[in-house]
Amino acid sequence: MNSSNPLHKERLLRERTQLLARIAQERGGLVSRVDMAAEHDVRDFENRAQAISERNDEFAMNEHETAELGALDAALERLEAGLYGSCKDCGVHIPEARLAAYPAAMRCIDCQSSFENPHG
Ligand SMILES: [Zn+2]
Repeated sequence: MNSSNPLHKERLLRERTQLLARIAQERGGLVSRVDMAAEHDVRDFENRAQAISERNDEFAMNEHETAELGALDAALERLEAGLYGSCKDCGVHIPEARLAAYPAAMRCIDCQSSFENPHG
């Protein structure tokens, strides 16, 4: 029953590392840009407002990435528990192709689409 596959863990950890690297890179870019705005435009409120609204955009994106990170962590937990690769809702085996495309997948395609679109 336990379809534990070392490839799955490897792939999840790799996805997680890449995601963390991307977040770190974006935060790095963010800090330097805000610092630059603070340094050069201290008295220019319009430019500061611009810098702040750009910062908010990046926070919105990071929120999405935080959710992605949470999904990868949850998938790793399910892997440890021997549940990875089974649909969370109906328990069917999630096709390898789907796991390859989306390693954090917790549901089969049918359950995922009814989860995302319960009235559809
Ligand atoms: Zn399902």
